[in-house]
Amino acid sequence: MRRLQKHFGGHIGVYHSKFSQNERIEIWNKVKDGELKIVLGARSAMFLPFESLGFIICDEEHDTSYKQMEPAPRYHARDAAIYMSSLFDGCKVLLGSATPSLESYHNAKKEKYGLVKLTQRYGDIEMPSLEMIDTRKFRFKTENETILTQPLRDAIQQSLDNKKQVILFQNRRGYTPYQRCNVCGWVPQCKYCDVSLTFHKFRNQLACHYCGTTYPPMHTCAACGSHDFVHRQFGTERIEEALQEFFPEAKTGRMDMDTVRGKNAHDQLIQTFEQQKIEILVGTQMVVKGLDFEHVDLVGILDADGILSFADFRVNERAYQLMEQVSGRAGRKHGRGKVLVQTAQPTHPVLMQVQQHDYDALYNEEKIRREQFFYPPFSRIIKLTFRNKIKDVVHDAAKIFANALSNRYVNNITGPAEPVVNRVRNNYLMELLLKLPRSGSILAQCKKDILDQIAILHQEKRYKSVVVIPDVDGV
Ligand SMILES: [Zn+2]
Ligand SMILES: [Zn+2]
Repeated sequence: MRRLQKHFGGHIGVYHSKFSQNERIEIWNKVKDGELKIVLGARSAMFLPFESLGFIICDEEHDTSYKQMEPAPRYHARDAAIYMSSLFDGCKVLLGSATPSLESYHNAKKEKYGLVKLTQRYGDIEMPSLEMIDTRKFRFKTENETILTQPLRDAIQQSLDNKKQVILFQNRRGYTPYQRCNVCGWVPQCKYCDVSLTFHKFRNQLACHYCGTTYPPMHTCAACGSHDFVHRQFGTERIEEALQEFFPEAKTGRMDMDTVRGKNAHDQLIQTFEQQKIEILVGTQMVVKGLDFEHVDLVGILDADGILSFADFRVNERAYQLMEQVSGRAGRKHGRGKVLVQTAQPTHPVLMQVQQHDYDALYNEEKIRREQFFYPPFSRIIKLTFRNKIKDVVHDAAKIFANALSNRYVNNITGPAEPVVNRVRNNYLMELLLKLPRSGSILAQCKKDILDQIAILHQEKRYKSVVVIPDVDGV
């Protein structure tokens, strides 16, 4: 806001959901009267009564927060912005990102969108160097020594000695349990869906949460033949404990959903870190969001395998974006920063691509995979989520629904299957995926069929209370 005002002067409005009704009405009226020329806003700003919109800027267009999953409507603000621009004569859209979504880049490659590349960093700052730490070498060490390996501890010590700051990153998705070969790093995948399998401890099986196929737990690695499997998970709290052992004197802080409640807590923690009252910051995705810390010269990505084995068809794209953005936190102003990545798969293609900052390589490989398994941008994915308090009811409802749709969509249906998180606020969940060709008429027909089936399902007493949530293309 300050930067915009400095450049354009007044007539700039800010609009988001933290404002009161009255404040929002004021902005609404000013936009309607043409008094405000520029609006800086969140997703909802799109619904302001613009009379002659000329330009929409969607910065960090790859960011998943452009789509909200709860509550409805589940629109993707970037895609909605592109549609909206078509409603105004000559209105343009600018999508900005250092790590574009595959969909947007695909559109640029097909020349549906124009493409402008910035090949120099602002202020000519060098990208940080990125090195892998092969965690397989440390698999016989204590647990703390595997969470923070010797090379990482040495680098942390060096930063502390130089009065620099350190960020240690652990994906919040690190909680999804999966099996991994302890010798070569191989992670079992579903042969039908090309996603990592989730490990269910109490049922003692591996499951694909896209198609529902279950597999016995792995005892022999398909890649190297070893029998040594692990399913390791640790969160940010556990990392702080490990830091206590090795760096008892260091001032540490933690930034995650638990420590940062409300907007002020977030700002406060950032300020404390900026004032260098914290030497080592342990954090999740939150540390990625556009923060610019000038004294950080080391970023540690503690469990790249957890990021690379998330059970989602967008896993490689997300992993690239996440690691590239995390790396960007290192050494932004004074000299070249360093990123250390702990992984059991140091030659994983995505890690190589991040190391080279080679987005095109990621795109080219990912495009082939998506085409082969018919995922977006080559198809449209409709996910149907079924929700109910009674487990049997929701399972049966999903099966009935799948059967009814299979008449017309037998080759397009995957599932039903339990999602990774299969119970939310006392409701059981089931999911069904439809992969459809990108054709308007097929989509329209399918939409009608889904709505018809929901109506039919709800006519039966047993399924009356089953909530069915359709979502297109996910995030
Ligand atoms: Zn192996
Ligand atoms: Zn599957």
